[in-house]
Amino acid sequence: MSNSIETIALHAGYNPGNGEPRQVPIWQSTTWKYSTSEDMGKLFDLEAAGYFYTRLQNPTNDFVASKLCAMEGGAAAMLTSSGQAANFFAVFNICEAGDHFIACANIYGGTYNLFGVTFKKMGIECTFVDQKLPIEELQKYIKPNTKCIFGETVTNPTVDVLDIEKFAKLAHDNGIPLIMDNTFATPVNCRPIEFGCDIVTHSTTKYIDGHASSVGGAIIDSGNFDWMAHKEKFPGLCTPDDSYHGITYAEKFGKAAYITKATAQLMRDFGCIQSPQNAYYIQLGLESLSVRMARHCENAQKVAEFLANDDRIAWVKYPGLESDSEYELAKKYCPKGTCGVLCFGVKGGREASIKFMDSLEFATIATHVADCKTLLLHPASHTHRQLSDEQLEEAGISPDLIRFSVGLEDPDDIINDLKQALDKIS
Ligand SMILES: *Cc1c(COP(=O)(O)O)cnc(C)c1O
Repeated sequence: MSNSIETIALHAGYNPGNGEPRQVPIWQSTTWKYSTSEDMGKLFDLEAAGYFYTRLQNPTNDFVASKLCAMEGGAAAMLTSSGQAANFFAVFNICEAGDHFIACANIYGGTYNLFGVTFKKMGIECTFVDQKLPIEELQKYIKPNTKCIFGETVTNPTVDVLDIEKFAKLAHDNGIPLIMDNTFATPVNCRPIEFGCDIVTHSTTKYIDGHASSVGGAIIDSGNFDWMAHKEKFPGLCTPDDSYHGITYAEKFGKAAYITKATAQLMRDFGCIQSPQNAYYIQLGLESLSVRMARHCENAQKVAEFLANDDRIAWVKYPGLESDSEYELAKKYCPKGTCGVLCFGVKGGREASIKFMDSLEFATIATHVADCKTLLLHPASHTHRQLSDEQLEEAGISPDLIRFSVGLEDPDDIINDLKQALDKIS
């Protein structure tokens, strides 16, 4: 198989045999039939591989997961019902009550709340850190019970680029894995595993779907983290599981241990399965992802340059601008471009920003991002309204910040829409 992401996106995962459907079929079935009680029993013991109930595994989902796995350069992968479920499973698969983990403060609002509020209720403590700190400073946050580090490749909404190698070193120096949410960059623009990341997550709801059709998520494991070398930290993977007849995942499943455990335990107990129908839509999205990402980046670059040169704009943040704080990191980790999302503030602060947003014609206000249509949102009054001003500041979000997700329309039309809205406030 080619190593090119364009070709992998079209051909990995599903290889139909003679006379079989070219496109992945939707296996719209909850259950599978077996001839003998023993055949079925082996599946429940994880002794044989096979399908029996869609909450645990479904062939459509598996084909799509293996395509995404190939695109990320991973060893095993699973789909989840949403990006929230993916990040929940990714951390909860290795953390339990009494454990601690580190997350970059600058992450998606929903993830921030999951980690800071909901995990706390489950007895898991998260420390949020400033991702720009030098490694020696970050090291001070590591405790004996710290089990993983979490960050976003390109952060939502502030489009900061994570220094993956710095965080991979920090994690590995301390015998713990680095988990990265690669939703914004997608495997087309960055493959975090190539820079030392251990586990990648996605909200496939965003660019991967790309057409605002299906909420979904995914977890891809590189298979590179040596759990048995840090046995005492990861008893869930390295000691027998009583709920599966004493199986030790890290011994029995090798590079697939982490995903097998997440499927066998978390999917079994929490049931955040992706519907096969949605997995099918994700598969369609993956096929065109590389073409769409290139166009999103091209359009966003033009929009960013327009905004940077308009004196009614207070500031603009896009890693593709040479003056941007993220320019160098983006060149290293996302040489093809980061994504279509950018942020800016309109002069006149919060009030002017709101008036400007309400004046746009086709760029729509929506609680969504990374879509084929141009969308925008004001985090302080929408996605992040649960956060205090102090937490907003910690997450790098100013009250006037507008998150602008550049779509696939003609870039001149997008710029003209921005121009006419700016004319209304000046
Ligand atoms: C949207 C998003 C999520 C949550 O995903 P859902 O599919 O909405 O549950 C997680 N991480 C990032 C970076 C996101 O943009």
